Amino acid sequence: MHKVTSEELFQRALKITPGGVHSPVRSFKGLDRAPVFFTKAEGAFLTSVEDKKYIDFCQSFGPLILGHLDPEVKEEVHRMVDTAWTFGATEVYSLELAEWITTTLPFMQKLRFVSSGTEAVMSALRVARAATGRNKILKFEGCYHGHVDNLLVKAGSGLAGTAASSSAGIPAEVAAQTVVSPLDDEAALEAVFAAQGKDIAAVIIEPLPANYGLLVQRPEFLKKVAELCKKNGSLLIYDEVISGFRVGLGGMVAETGITPDLVTYGKIIGGGFPVGCYGGKAELMNMVAPSGDVYQAGTLSANPVGMRAGLTTLKKMQRLDGWNLLNKRTEKFAQTLRDGLAKKGSDLQVSQVASLFWIHGKTPAPIRSIAQIPANQGGTFKGLFLKALDKGVYLAPNAYEVGFVSWAHSDELLEEAAHIIISAAE
Ligand code: PMP
Repeated sequence: MHKVTSEELFQRALKITPGGVHSPVRSFKGLDRAPVFFTKAEGAFLTSVEDKKYIDFCQSFGPLILGHLDPEVKEEVHRMVDTAWTFGATEVYSLELAEWITTTLPFMQKLRFVSSGTEAVMSALRVARAATGRNKILKFEGCYHGHVDNLLVKAGSGLAGTAASSSAGIPAEVAAQTVVSPLDDEAALEAVFAAQGKDIAAVIIEPLPANYGLLVQRPEFLKKVAELCKKNGSLLIYDEVISGFRVGLGGMVAETGITPDLVTYGKIIGGGFPVGCYGGKAELMNMVAPSGDVYQAGTLSANPVGMRAGLTTLKKMQRLDGWNLLNKRTEKFAQTLRDGLAKKGSDLQVSQVASLFWIHGKTPAPIRSIAQIPANQGGTFKGLFLKALDKGVYLAPNAYEVGFVSWAHSDELLEEAAHIIISAAE
């Protein structure tokens, strides 16, 4: 009997979905291969329609810090599904997660749950504009904040501090509300603030930029960002959709010792279900409807299944000393990769922070901005990715996406995966 293949399924999908996918990075674009169609996911593994098993370092791009189908989370999800799916009314489940977060992370004085990271960011920007009476938002080149019109922008080709849309369908007037500055560059930031500081409602930053490779920022740069915000009366928004509950319980707020005005979360906070969250200073969050006049709403906001999955995930990580142990495990994995690659004479390098890693070409110094990424990154990655895939390792299918290690990746499995990746390297 003929067994269906990923290639056949992709051809079917291409007929009815743009690019055959529901989110662009899933498409294997530029990799000259149909994306793998999966049927099952458990722990650190994915299973394809061809019944091939892969060690998964994509982990749905970050929500699954415990891995797929964590038994404790699964049990809670089952219990919730047997209890209620959605209320559209007040319930106890979001209250419990909100209380856990606000007591554990005191800088989150008040919060609101939404259904995605994009929604969290969009809502936080609205609050910032309302609070300051200003329109402009400053973002950094190489940071991604979801597909919000305002933030799908790149640096403008003219004057520093201008922006042009990076997607069709975004009016120039909307892009013009955003100001773009390079990462790792205090002087450029000073110049932008000197010229437009009084118009900037907020600066939004991924404090650990992880959407264009892993662009670790110097603490002095992050300090400068906070300082300039304060001086100019602009709010500081940390977008912790990836880094929140990933680098540690307190995310980059704890790591940097900087308390932003607002923080956005997504991914891990919903334990694998669609949840986002924005929050921070109570006086700002009090501006949100119905207590204030910044309107923001959602039919499925604070969905109870996501609330339960999120809370169970976070409590389990806390109970296990999970962040500490997982970060150490990933550090060892990255070192095994580095040692093996060097021994092989490969030029590939590995950047790693907490349970995130990124494989890239040789550079003389740590990569902190997109300008420092080697020009051949796409080609380098393609060869590695396809060989690793054949050997049973699924990396996130794009040269600029980071790898995610989960609690379900044991030391032994990471050792095995490292050897596969090393053998796949040129
Ligand atoms: N902000 C950051 C930092 C992200 O990494 C992402 C998603 N990768 C988003 C916002 C958007 O989140 P979502 O895809 O859930 O809308």
